[in-house]
Amino acid sequence: MNKNIPELYGSLVFSDKVMKNKLPKDVYKALRKTIENGTHLELEVANSVAVAMKEWAVENGATHFTHWFQPMTGITAEKHDSFITPVGDSEVAMDFSGKELVKGEPDASSFPSGGLRATFEARGYTAWDPTSPAFIKDRTLCIPTAFCSYSGEALDKKTPLLRSMEALSNSAVRLLHLIGNTEVTRVSTTVGPEQEYFLVDKDLYLKRKDLIFCGRTLLGAPAPKGQEMEDHYFGVLKPRVSAYMHDLDEELWKVGIPAKTKHNEVAPAQHELAPVFDTANVAVDHNQLTMEIMKNVADKHNLVCLLHEKPFEGINGSGKHNNWSMITNTGINLLNPGKTPAENIQFLIFLMAVIKAVDDYADLMRVSVASAGNDHRLGANEAPPAIVSIFLGEELNAVLDSVENDSFFGTSARVPMETGATVLPHFFKDNTDRNRTSPFAFTGNKFEFRMLGSSLSVSGPNVILNTAVAEALDAFYNELKDTSADEMEHAVHELLKRAIRKHRKIIFDGNGYTDEWIAEAQKRGLYNLKSTPDALPQFIAKKNLDLFRKHHIFSEKEVFSRYDILLENYSKTICIEGKTMAEMVMKDVMPSAMAYMQKLTQEASSKKALIPDLSIETETALLKKLTELYSEMSRQVKVLKDAVAEADAESDALKQAQLFHDSVLTAMDELRVYADAAEAMIPDDCLSYPTYDKLLFSV
Ligand code: ADP
Ligand code: MG
Repeated sequence: MNKNIPELYGSLVFSDKVMKNKLPKDVYKALRKTIENGTHLELEVANSVAVAMKEWAVENGATHFTHWFQPMTGITAEKHDSFITPVGDSEVAMDFSGKELVKGEPDASSFPSGGLRATFEARGYTAWDPTSPAFIKDRTLCIPTAFCSYSGEALDKKTPLLRSMEALSNSAVRLLHLIGNTEVTRVSTTVGPEQEYFLVDKDLYLKRKDLIFCGRTLLGAPAPKGQEMEDHYFGVLKPRVSAYMHDLDEELWKVGIPAKTKHNEVAPAQHELAPVFDTANVAVDHNQLTMEIMKNVADKHNLVCLLHEKPFEGINGSGKHNNWSMITNTGINLLNPGKTPAENIQFLIFLMAVIKAVDDYADLMRVSVASAGNDHRLGANEAPPAIVSIFLGEELNAVLDSVENDSFFGTSARVPMETGATVLPHFFKDNTDRNRTSPFAFTGNKFEFRMLGSSLSVSGPNVILNTAVAEALDAFYNELKDTSADEMEHAVHELLKRAIRKHRKIIFDGNGYTDEWIAEAQKRGLYNLKSTPDALPQFIAKKNLDLFRKHHIFSEKEVFSRYDILLENYSKTICIEGKTMAEMVMKDVMPSAMAYMQKLTQEASSKKALIPDLSIETETALLKKLTELYSEMSRQVKVLKDAVAEADAESDALKQAQLFHDSVLTAMDELRVYADAAEAMIPDDCLSYPTYDKLLFSV
């Protein structure tokens, strides 16, 4: 094992350093220009890059290349081509052209397109994204690409993200120039996703159909011990877990993913990994790759990495915290409270823009994290509620109060400024992150969006954040654009005051897990979109279609296609779950119960035969209870199967999703009660699948 980490780090990445080394100077310069400013790349440049890339890849053991893309399945896709070109008699050359680098044509007919591309027009194309570095995985050169239809519609998760980053940059730069910061020419969004996951033993995993088909347990009585002792969070890593994490870190480092923090999470068998943040596009690619590598490395350790949002009932599920901020090309984090009054105006206006964005588009934020898996978390009492609100912390709230009331913030020792806020104190940053129940929290110099499910691509939520913030910045720009330079500070102050009054309703610093908050949120008129079928129709609400169109994120057609895919995905997921559960109950739980009942009967009758006046009360009681549960299961399995069949037959996508939610999930819940009660009575040697105690405590 290579233990020289700086040498190991990024060794499989076609990094800036490699490019600088390998590319002719003018080609390198042209490529940098494309990466930094999004300018068009000439084919000659692409050809030259392709040659260097291939050389480097072959030197590092690669034999194939692939355009690596992110279709709407939510996972990545690849189609490998080897570099070989036959030349003459049984000889080959290793070839790779600029054309092959820039554009690919995967047969894309089987990727979900929500009706955008009928299967007979199978071809979509992939286009190189030079802003995310190419890397080698499994001896294959992977080239990050966007995936579009021939008519130019986005069929993937990357295209809208790049569009939204562009929109935010344009709006931010325009506003910065207006308020006097004219040096900035580009603003990037930065993202650091913290990833939660579970590890289970692979041998046990393979004995459970629910884990294999659904990624989560559909049955399972609680283990005698859950997470009540709170002894797992930040606990000492067990040797097998530790070995896994070391291996994982190295694999991630090789492909240039800056894995930084790792620890045990609250639930038994649950862990977390956080990288150092990067620009949104790279962070999204890296998170996709991280999830894949987590699974592969687990396999090597005879483990399975579960990324489902709720693998086990009764203990915490897994989420993903999307840390988000904006940084200028001059190196300033726009959500970092500044040291000077001018910096503070800038900070306050960008902070306010985020607050406005989240308030105006709270419904879209909820839509962006909606999935069948995540519905089990949101609103349950370990995860942020389905209601979107913002946590700012005491100090920042005091700052906003002082702006709103024209009073000076802080002690007289601080320099007052026109906006009413003094220079913000520096201890600020460490003082904020106290509230763990908030779905969207300010954490010192960034916001942390905590509603994401653990398996979700982080692309969607960032598309919404970037776009909504771009819109808010535009609104502020329009309010300020006719103001002269000497009036600006006053005008900004007045604007902030108006915005605070208007958007205060989204700010909530209390405990988001309480019923009082749900009632309060309703009074404030906030959305409470509890389930995916409740949330998704907001995706196609007029105000949201307008937003997407205005900022060139999605055409109406693209939104509708995504809406269809999301609904379909939801229904398919629950359909598979319903069928899997019915099968497990029929083929695992009921036969196990029957086997145990037979054993009990035999034991009771041999007891009786041996000593006629011995009591068989216990056996009889068990038999009675199990017989009852057996017939309840047999009845409820039929209810479940009928519900699945009815929902499956529904042709309207929204109605179908609602049916899966209302009748199938309900039928599953009821069946689970009987099955889990039976499971709890059946001894392990009569049960055909491993129980929660083994799954959660055996690694
Ligand atoms: P916590 O667990 O307290 O929320 P961590 O340190 O585990 O905090 O994770 C914070 C994440 O936020 C890391 O991925 C970090 O790189 C990221 N982060 C820090 N600064 C920024 C920023 N300006 N923009 C985006 N992400 C950031
Ligand atoms: Mg966090």
